[in-house]
Order: sequence, then C-alpha cells, then structure tokens
Amino acid sequence: MTGRKFFVGGNWKCNGTVAKVKELVDVLNNGEGFTTSVDITDIVEVVVAPVALHIPYVHDKLRKDFKVAAQNAWVKGSGAYTGEISADILKDYGLEWVILGHSERRALMHETSEFVADKTAYCLEKGLSVILCIGEKLEERESNKTFDVVASQLAPVADKIKDWSKVVIAYEPVWAIGTGKVASPEQAQEVHDNVRGWLSEKVSPDVASATRIIYGGSVSASNSDELATCKDIDGFLVGGASLKPDFLKIISSAQ
Ligand code: PEP
Repeated sequence: MTGRKFFVGGNWKCNGTVAKVKELVDVLNNGEGFTTSVDITDIVEVVVAPVALHIPYVHDKLRKDFKVAAQNAWVKGSGAYTGEISADILKDYGLEWVILGHSERRALMHETSEFVADKTAYCLEKGLSVILCIGEKLEERESNKTFDVVASQLAPVADKIKDWSKVVIAYEPVWAIGTGKVASPEQAQEVHDNVRGWLSEKVSPDVASATRIIYGGSVSASNSDELATCKDIDGFLVGGASLKPDFLKIISSAQ
C-alpha cells in the first residue's frame, strides 16, 4: 500500500468536434465499460483535458467526481498575451488541473525545461494542480541518457517550487507517444524508480514517497493492467486511447 491514489489522465490533445466531445462525456458519465465493481473514484482520480474551446461543455456536463484539465497555461498572469490562457483565468473558471511540459509542446513550441518550470511555479502559486510531463527521446534512450534527461527536466522545477503536493509527474518517453510502441513494464518501472530516487535525494524522501508518477506513451486497454502492477507506476496519462471507450478499461486498471 503506497498511500498514493491511482491517477488516470486523458489528454484529448487537439482533437474533437462538438458531437465527439458530447459522445465522450456520455461514455464517461455512463461508465458502462468499467471493469470493476467498486466505486471507481474510491480507487482512482480521473482528469480529462479537452481543447480549451471544449472545456466549458466538459466542465458543465462531466460527472463531478471526474475533473477537467487545461492542456497548457501561460507562464504569467492575464494580459497582452494573444492566444494564451493564464492560470488566473483557468482558476477563475473553476478548473483545478493543467498539463504542462507535454513533449509535443517541448518539441513543436520549443518549450524549454526552464520555461516549463516557470509555468509550473506560476500555476501552483495560483492554486492549480499540475500534471508535469517529462521524458526522453529515442536517441537519448539509445545513448543511455534517459536518467540524465529526466533529471534535467525536473531540476529547474525543484529549484522553483517548494510544495510538491499538487504535482503529478507524467513520465512519457517521447518514442512511445502516439507510436503504438509502449515502454515495457520493466522499462517504465526502471525510470519511475529512478525519478522517485531523484526526488528523494534532491527534494525529500517524504515528497518522493507521496508524489504520484504516472506513465504515458501508447497506453491501451490491452497493456494498462500489466503496467499498473509496477510498484512505482501510480497511473497513466493517456492520449489516443482516451478518445475511445477503451479509456474506461484503462481507468479500471487501478484495481
Ligand atoms: C500523450 O499525449 O500524453 C500520450 C501519452 O499519447 P498516446 O497515449 O497517444 O501515446
């Protein structure tokens, strides 16, 4: 018993139509695909992240024991930042969660680890909880740099924040995201264990044992049960499969 509640996030990325979002919310609300007999929110915390335009609908209609996250937030407060959305606006709207540092934003929008750390600090200061994404690229794994990469992504965050209680770390190897190439339970567990060790050494043993470290990268209904048995895997961040009814089976792997 770790005391860490299982956590499953659904990252809908830049997907969805009004009709599709309604369908997804209905599937989650009906919960007919849960493969557990216990009340699902007794064993797992569920958060879904629609595109910003769809947040109001999902926030209004989604069952209230599941939460809604933004997929990003600006590094500062509200102001002259066209196209951005601030933590202040998210918080005012009633959101509790934000995803930061997703590898797609790091790669396509050139977000650095320092910038992600600044965003993390700002969002936490405003009272949001943060799903902080880290993970190595294929060439980094192949040159045995995985541990160095995740440490270099976490270090600026550790420099800028004191309270880790509202942070969930999502380890998402870039080579596994959207590729169908899932990390093996051994590969994922090895990095989760290393991240927990890093937290213990650089932050504190208490933070290390309390912080949830979730895995992301081609998680599906057919691999989630096995991944969930790993000692240091406290849940999942799910992309593609969170857009399908399979997501309910993945949530159920918490049991
Ligand atoms: C993600 O986008 O965070 C992700 C893990 O995607 P996928 O599950 O599709 O690999």
